Amino acid sequence: MNKFLLGTNWKMNKTLTESIQYTNDLMPIIEKYPQFEFFIIPSYTHLWKIKETIDAQKSPLKLGAQNMHQEDFGQFTGEISPVMLKEIGLDVIELGHSERRQYFNETDEAVNQKALAALKHGFIPLICIGEQLADKNYGVSKEMLAKQLKIALKDMPANAISNFWIAYEPVWAIGVNGIPAETSYVEEIHNFLRTVLIDLYGTIGQEIPLLFGGSVNKNNASDYARLENVDGLFIGRSAWEPDLFEELMVLV
Ligand code: PGA
Repeated sequence: MNKFLLGTNWKMNKTLTESIQYTNDLMPIIEKYPQFEFFIIPSYTHLWKIKETIDAQKSPLKLGAQNMHQEDFGQFTGEISPVMLKEIGLDVIELGHSERRQYFNETDEAVNQKALAALKHGFIPLICIGEQLADKNYGVSKEMLAKQLKIALKDMPANAISNFWIAYEPVWAIGVNGIPAETSYVEEIHNFLRTVLIDLYGTIGQEIPLLFGGSVNKNNASDYARLENVDGLFIGRSAWEPDLFEELMVLV
């Protein structure tokens, strides 16, 4: 039985000083909530220091990167390889966030390559999928999501202790202009995603954690968390201050 996952992607926010402060403030809080598995996903430049901070406290807080190149080394200026991230000792690699897809042209095929590389290097790939508002309005959300998921997971082996996580984040629900999704909609989509995972992996598909994200806040967190096929919450703005994050933990 997996613990309920609670994590946050900081996107391109926080200085190094702020990042260390956040981590130091969060670690004693998470000790009060052993029923959850916590993870934070800061900027690359802060990862070494934050890892040292976590290790110094022997905290169970998991640490991740927001992206990764699929090759170990090479002529890829500006990219960061799995080998480099492995040296830091990260747990999770977030892949395919909608901002990466939108602003950096990340494709489903690239997400698949990166996910395979992440798994090979012993990370937990956290694969993000989500439909656009137009997909929802045309009634093709499920088709779009099934396509994203199946391409991202091509040739991905799954074992009984789930070795990758999926985050469903409707693009129209993310960020300051996002509209929080109806609970019934999240329920319908998560149930659907579960059937896709079971089609792909049989009973193991039942165990693969499905997180929800997109304008998760104090008003909706407990409603989403209670849904049968929601195994975690992936939170942006509402978790960017540890005390806000704790207010949300109490509700979940
Ligand atoms: P948000 O971000 O919670 O600020 O909407 C979610 C995300 O991008 O993962």
